[in-house]
Amino acid sequence: MVFSHLAQMSAFQDAATIRGSAPNRQLFGAAGALPDAVDVAVIGGGIIGVSAAYALARAGVRVALFEKGAVACEQSSRNWGWVRTLGRDLPEVPLAQRANVLWGDIQNKIDVGFRRSGMLYLQEDDADASGHHAWMDSARAYGVDARQLSRHEARQMLPQTARAWTGAMYSATDGVAEPQLAAPAIAALARAAGALLFEDCAVRGIERSAGRICAVLTEHGRVATSSVLVAAGAWSRLFCGNLGADFPQLKVRGSVLRTAPIDAGLAAAVNGKDFTCRKRADGGYTVSQFGASMADVVPDSFRLMRHFGRAWLANRNFVRLRFGKRFFEELSIPRHFSTDDVSPFERHRVLDPLPSERGIDQAWRRLTHAFPVFRDARVAQSWAGYIDVTPDAMPVMDAVPDLPGLYLASGFSGHGFGIGPAAGEAMAQLIQGQRPTVDLQPFRFDRYGT
Ligand SMILES: Cc1cc2nc3c(=O)[nH]c(=O)nc-3n(C[C@H](O)[C@H](O)[C@H](O)COP(=O)(O)OP(=O)(O)OC[C@H]3O[C@@H](n4cnc5c(N)ncnc54)[C@H](O)[C@@H]3O)c2cc1C
Repeated sequence: MVFSHLAQMSAFQDAATIRGSAPNRQLFGAAGALPDAVDVAVIGGGIIGVSAAYALARAGVRVALFEKGAVACEQSSRNWGWVRTLGRDLPEVPLAQRANVLWGDIQNKIDVGFRRSGMLYLQEDDADASGHHAWMDSARAYGVDARQLSRHEARQMLPQTARAWTGAMYSATDGVAEPQLAAPAIAALARAAGALLFEDCAVRGIERSAGRICAVLTEHGRVATSSVLVAAGAWSRLFCGNLGADFPQLKVRGSVLRTAPIDAGLAAAVNGKDFTCRKRADGGYTVSQFGASMADVVPDSFRLMRHFGRAWLANRNFVRLRFGKRFFEELSIPRHFSTDDVSPFERHRVLDPLPSERGIDQAWRRLTHAFPVFRDARVAQSWAGYIDVTPDAMPVMDAVPDLPGLYLASGFSGHGFGIGPAAGEAMAQLIQGQRPTVDLQPFRFDRYGT
């Protein structure tokens, strides 16, 4: 097996490199003196939390962000780095378009590795082409930048390929950003704009007075606030559940590898159906495949069967189910806990799963088959991350019903990095009582009827 030596590497070492935790810690330090009060508390230092904190701070709002581990220690540093409009669920298209603009603005201020590299969804038969045509037809009303490339045009754009693609769906303005740079850099912008950031500082719960939120309770103390944004990624269900709000969310494990720098002559990000690759700022490539995803069967799989049953059936070719020790690990995490004791968020500082050797091995073989130039590449690292998914694979971005002052932005279902800056901006607007630039109706909390 190509990756046996990698799979045996310490997952923690992998993750430490992936998330670039050392520079973050120097930037934001340990949780020192907490403020007595802020206007808004943000829970979670992923791309969504830091983007919201940045937008709030720029608007002059007193905001504090609390992260149980390090900024971007979970999904936001482990993803592929795609910033795409192509193939999105239509309600997300305006968010993706707004995000594309915001990524450009951010890149002008600080290096997040954003570039409009172009993106290709390759086709190998008529069925692929008609699927892409249907999406382009329906997305046309939004003015998306997407067009069909003929067989010849695809060949010209990818002269290195050894496979006979029948064409491709192409966007010249979709692109990539660097996950290990982006959230820490946006966090730095937020801090420069006045946001307070606390790492190693889990929020255990909230305090209410007369039915309304009046404080967050962190492991290091209480901070008074009237508004709380839960941007806790894969932990949002647990956090909300402890407050009595049932947010249907499960986790899927995605596995990824990166190569050492190589001159493969491939600048655009490529979705090859059974492999994906994109050029990194360090000269290597990030490689994976949609089918490298695995869902552990956990107690929530049964509790949420009525929500997810149909989604599992529809995605059974992409996501493999696995029953193993994760079931018992999750069984041991209490669903209801007191804020006086060490919480599950402190006991599990960083979700750091091992990559699926089979998933990345397969992606690598398919990539090197399609692009033989990669046979000369050295695989430098592999890693995995838990993706938080909802039943309809779209996020919730809303005020939480019956909990005045509590907001949720979570469940980005494997595509929240690219839209992160726009999602953060929209949540900042919602919390300030403004009309969000992008319509958030499709992302209501109550659409699952829980
Ligand atoms: C392998 C993989 C590939 C992906 N590829 C892409 C891609 O190419 N493009 C794309 O757009 N998206 C992609 N995604 C999805 C994307 O990474 C996520 O949608 C996005 O990063 C979610 O951001 P977030 O801020 O909601 O969550 P996270 O980044 O998971 O951040 C949540 C944070 O909250 C913290 N936290 C949780 N509970 C508490 C608490 N109680 N107190 C304090 N802190 C807490 C956690 O420690 C964590 O750091 C991918 C994901 C993975 C795993």
